[in-house]
Amino acid sequence: MQETDDILTLRIQIASMGSLSKEQISALQSLDIFTVADLIKHLPYRYETHRSCRSIDEAKSQFNENTATPDIVSIEGVVAEIKPSHRYSKTRKVEITLEDDSDALTLNWFNQPWIAKKFHPDDRIRVMGKLSMHKDTIQMNNPKWEPVDDNEVTTSSDDGELRPVYPSSDGISSSQIATLIQSVLTEALSEIEDHFSEDELKRLEMPTLSHAYELCHSPKHEDEVSRGRRRIAFDELFLLQLGVMLKRHQRRETLASPALRWDDEVRERIAARIHFELTEDQVKVIEEIATDVTSTIPMNRLLQGDVGSGKTVVALHAMLMAVTSQAQAALMAPTELLAEQHFKTVRALLEGSSVKLALLTSSISSKEREQLKNEISSGEVDIVIGTHALLTSDIEFNNIAIVITDEQHRFGVHQRATLRNKGGDSSIVPHTLVMTATPIPRTLSLTQFGDLEISTIKSLPPGRTPVKTKHVYPEDAQKVYSFAKEQIAKGHQCYVVVPLVEDTNTGLKSAVEHSDDLKNRYFQDESIEVVHGRMKSEERESVMERFRQGDIDVLIATTVIEVGVDVPNATLIIIEHADRFGLAQLHQLRGRVGRGVDAGVCALIASPQTEDASKRLQAIVQTTDGFLIAEKDLEIRGPGELFGAKQSGIAPFKVADVVKDAALLQFARTLAKDMINDEPTLASHELLMKRLIKTYGTSLGLGDVA
Ligand code: ADP
Ligand code: MG
Repeated sequence: MQETDDILTLRIQIASMGSLSKEQISALQSLDIFTVADLIKHLPYRYETHRSCRSIDEAKSQFNENTATPDIVSIEGVVAEIKPSHRYSKTRKVEITLEDDSDALTLNWFNQPWIAKKFHPDDRIRVMGKLSMHKDTIQMNNPKWEPVDDNEVTTSSDDGELRPVYPSSDGISSSQIATLIQSVLTEALSEIEDHFSEDELKRLEMPTLSHAYELCHSPKHEDEVSRGRRRIAFDELFLLQLGVMLKRHQRRETLASPALRWDDEVRERIAARIHFELTEDQVKVIEEIATDVTSTIPMNRLLQGDVGSGKTVVALHAMLMAVTSQAQAALMAPTELLAEQHFKTVRALLEGSSVKLALLTSSISSKEREQLKNEISSGEVDIVIGTHALLTSDIEFNNIAIVITDEQHRFGVHQRATLRNKGGDSSIVPHTLVMTATPIPRTLSLTQFGDLEISTIKSLPPGRTPVKTKHVYPEDAQKVYSFAKEQIAKGHQCYVVVPLVEDTNTGLKSAVEHSDDLKNRYFQDESIEVVHGRMKSEERESVMERFRQGDIDVLIATTVIEVGVDVPNATLIIIEHADRFGLAQLHQLRGRVGRGVDAGVCALIASPQTEDASKRLQAIVQTTDGFLIAEKDLEIRGPGELFGAKQSGIAPFKVADVVKDAALLQFARTLAKDMINDEPTLASHELLMKRLIKTYGTSLGLGDVA
């Protein structure tokens, strides 16, 4: 919601509200409530039904034992009997019998022995609480109560009143929040402006924003809550869709990329260099990319394909589309190790061709680096491979036409790299392709990734056997290592992954310690080496090279090997403390084996300590399908976390749930698309535009239109 300047209530700082104590103010602030507007946006997470009953008999007859959220009932009666607690009873139960003309009700208080003294026989009291069943009798435990004046008229029964329950914190209770909200609600609601016209709302079949908040804070029925909630959830979904669609529109209108060449001749020239046949899916995604890059509309495509599905060769095709068009291409990898490996793969595939390839790593001398920079900016180099950091620093290209980012398992798609041309026109940008081995669940691909075109490789190259995955408890680790010895005896190699480089009082072994340990215990005759992230890259590279050559039998590694290491002779991966790894990470790690003709095995050593860790292990054992794993990950972690909010700077939705509100999301998406198509400036929706810029201007980079 947004507020106009001359109207005040919504803008009032809660810190300036006289009715609140210091503790309450800081408690509210810990709930992210600073202004009245924040307070109004603070929605109940559930509702309780409060019902007053005319008689005990009526209350009992309405009681339903099987409901999950029993009503809170209030009843009047006379205290008939008081049973104080026994001194030695564990629960210190005080039992009181409440009576009226119709019936009697047992009230119990636990661990409050002093309460017995507060009552006297024949007191008229009103009690409030939930009824429950105990040994076939209906009773009420720990009720709230108040004395009733004899002259007071007994209130009549009602159908039940819905009372909101708010997220609260230590210094302020839900009912205090409720009272506070009620005290400002009417005035605040009258100030909320809608960004949709009455006509539009009628067409959408939605209440006004103001009414929606009223329905959430003061509903009369459950269906009012869902009507109000639906409008607010819709707005959240719609605003992001609108931002994404606007971004897409802006990019297509204001930016252009070089149109590249792609025809049979190029196709065949590449085919001649590859010793295998492309899978159907590889061919399909290459054509999808080609369709994009042969036009001047900048490509913005995500290529998702499971570990080992063959994305690198697709990237090669995309890069060569640029090279045959006399332009440059860049491939960015998340780690140096992976950049080096991509470089080797691509170099092997291009051997003997005139394509000039360069690898940019942190280990080259500054003189070499200077020379490389010059070759890149003069256009001498056709393809540059490096890490994200190295490539984006101060490198200028002569004519960069396509940038490929190998994200592997990361969701940070939004921090798109900006590679530029020397002295170039900033409206000319390269086509971009992001590759990921962790597919984005469908719901997410429709939200903040909604401006990406998506290409998918579903099938693996022929002849692969799925990796067998087993969960093993630490007690049985011995069996796993014996199996490793057998594999090595057959000429195979094995990875052992450990979570940390150094022991930081966690009781976890460091990679180095672990290696000594394993050597002494199991691998006296085998050759065993360590790689980890703190090693110098030449050192690491030399170990990796020897592993690739088959000179090392067992490679102990931290997660540096997670990304893309390709040694087909390695058939076993043992992951120690597997419960400490994320699902996507485990899946990546597992992808290091089963890359050749021999079947791969993945052993997860862990005794999971949390339910989530157990679920992760179960999921990874049960399926090898990266798409299912991504969906499972979303399920276990919840959309809030996986939403990638941290990386993208986009706050997760407060009300909408991308999974449960899938239909609403689709609806919002269609509407947003139509709206931007009809009127990209949103000229007739000034307030909507203002709210859009306020919410997503920075994170989506929409600021320039405001
Ligand atoms: P990822 O998608 O994980 O990056 P890679 O591109 O590293 O996968 O490919 C994995 C392995 O599969 C590589 O050794 C690659 O040469 C091989 N490969 C890729 N495509 C095919 C294919 N169509 N037929 C056979 N092998 C292939
Ligand atoms: Mg790869």
